[in-house]
Order: sequence, then C-alpha cells, then structure tokens
Amino acid sequence: MICYGYIMKYNCPLCKSILTYSSYEFARCLVCDAYVRNPMTYLNRSEEHERYKLHKNTLDNQPYLNFLTPLSQLVKEHVLEGSLGLDFGCGPVFAMEKLLKDTVSLNHYDAFFYPNEEALNEQYDFIILSEVIEHFHHPHKEFQRLRSLLKPQGLLFIQTHRHDDIPSINNWYYAKDPTHVFLCSLKTCQSIADMFNFKMIVVTNRCVILQAN
Ligand SMILES: [Zn+2]
Repeated sequence: MICYGYIMKYNCPLCKSILTYSSYEFARCLVCDAYVRNPMTYLNRSEEHERYKLHKNTLDNQPYLNFLTPLSQLVKEHVLEGSLGLDFGCGPVFAMEKLLKDTVSLNHYDAFFYPNEEALNEQYDFIILSEVIEHFHHPHKEFQRLRSLLKPQGLLFIQTHRHDDIPSINNWYYAKDPTHVFLCSLKTCQSIADMFNFKMIVVTNRCVILQAN
C-alpha cells in the first residue's frame, strides 16, 4: 500500500492493476472492472464469522431455498447425472445438495463452517460458487485454486449480484454488507475466464457458467 494524504493505492486482488482510493469505501478497477473494498476496512476473521452467523440459512427456510433454486436448475441443465461436484463456500447447511437431490454427488467446503480440507484434494466435474466470490479477499489465489480442482471441460457455476446495471455503488444494498469486498460485472467474469483458461458458456441475470478449456 502506498499512501499520499487521503489517496491510497493497492493492487487489484484479481488482475494486479493499480487501484486508487480516495476514501475508505470501494475503488473500481479500470482493467477488470471489479469494485474492490478498501482493504483497510476488511473485517477480521472472527468479525467476519460473527456476521455470517446472522444469516438465516437453514434447510427449512423456504425463501432461502427459493433464492438458490435458479442456480440449482442451471446445474441440473448443464451437468450429467452422477457427476461429482464441489459446493465451495456452502455455509452452515447443505442447501444445494437438498435442491439437487440425488442427481449428482456433492462434496462440501466452507472456510468458516465446514473447513473440510480433504475436499480440496479431489478433481471435480463442476464447482458451485453460490454468493461466495463477493467475499473473496484474494480472488486471484482462489480462482487459481478452483481452476486446479476442475477436470478438463469442468464447469464453474458462479452466482453473485453483478454491478452491470447499478447506477451508483454508493447506495447499492449489495455494497453495504461489510463482508462483500469484491464486486464483479460481466466484464470481470470475462476477465476471470481469460485469466484462468475458461470460456464463458452461459450468462443469466445472476449467474455465469465458465467451462475449463
Ligand atoms: Zn482488476
């Protein structure tokens, strides 16, 4: 970090370009188009964990299951029955597994709720990132690791609220969550694809599917 008065400079955590901050909020990367929260304001690990515990993500929370349903439908449409997948950042309960029923096999990993390191030693037909990437402090490292866990032609399902049509980040609900530090647009998703040797094969309003080359 370089600091000149109120101007702070960091490298973009995805593409390493210089980000210039004039406040403690977000800066927009001119290269990959991500909005990155000022790292000075990141929550520490225990604060972050406490914040996640406030989410009512339970298996009997129907609005939560409804919210995940479009992504589960995409998985059913694009993944062969019997495939092996990883729900990365699954949270405290295995909701996606419930929605996918017995169509596929799913392993689970969550840095806070289910740190199942063994799951990170397998190779997968697909990986699900459901409302996860906006929490990445180190997206370059995370995508590199996820890419290495995919088989050739494997699919990466990314669900996040993209900032494509947001008039201003200042009052955007998604930017108000202090655990949301890395906000993508479709251009950012394309940068991720280019950087880690994927092609983008599907785009919906909240999801993209990247296929490993
Ligand atoms: Zn960038």
